Amino acid sequence: MPTAAATYRPAGAGRIGGPCTYPPGPRPSACRRGYDRRHRDRRAKIFVRDGGRCQRCGALVALHAGQGLPVMHLDHIVPQSHGGGNECGNLQTLCPTCNARKAREGW
Ligand SMILES: [Zn+2]
Repeated sequence: MPTAAATYRPAGAGRIGGPCTYPPGPRPSACRRGYDRRHRDRRAKIFVRDGGRCQRCGALVALHAGQGLPVMHLDHIVPQSHGGGNECGNLQTLCPTCNARKAREGW
């Protein structure tokens, strides 16, 4: 029969990916160092992880303006309005065209 420990759900459980098995606080993942840092640091991290390419169409994008490429958009795979978080697993690089299409068409 279930014990109290087996049914314990820490704060934040029940989000994307099911119940969190980690205690609250930074998780031991590759994203840990950037977890609580500024948005700009996370943006650069996702850009590098994704190889500087839009994850929908594969277009090369730039981290900063002035490089002759479209500037990357940091996209929430599951929108924050739908419960998506700011963890690296919910972020991806998109080009401006794909991000605008996603906003318009809802994928
Ligand atoms: Zn694209």
